[in-house]
Amino acid sequence: MNRRVTLHARALALRCPNCGGGGVVRHWLRIADDCPTCGISLVRGNRVGAYILNLGAAEAVVMAVVLWVVVRGWPDQVPWDLLGWLAPLLAVTSPLVFYPFSRLGFVAIDLAMHPETRRDEDAGSCRGAEQQ
Ligand SMILES: [Zn+2]
Repeated sequence: MNRRVTLHARALALRCPNCGGGGVVRHWLRIADDCPTCGISLVRGNRVGAYILNLGAAEAVVMAVVLWVVVRGWPDQVPWDLLGWLAPLLAVTSPLVFYPFSRLGFVAIDLAMHPETRRDEDAGSCRGAEQQ
């Protein structure tokens, strides 16, 4: 399987994108700093990218739901009262639902873009410096 597909499939399964090992999601909103299996840093890149990915995906889902409801009821049967509380509720809750997927998904993106790059945060990266 293509390496990029594998990386993203592992992230969607909430496993380490690098090795597929489990135990990286401590709680829904708490991701381990390092993979317990391979030691790769799960705070690779920066968290701002993961947050942007999270908000983009979550709010795209909210907009899709709102548009679907509006188009289905257009023009006379749009449930505006329903949308008045459903849209804000989804806007607040969907980033929480997507959080672990976006964190691990951003690690997968980083690994796909920079597969050979070792980060200072990766376990064992100091061993490479000792050999130089
Ligand atoms: Zn791993």
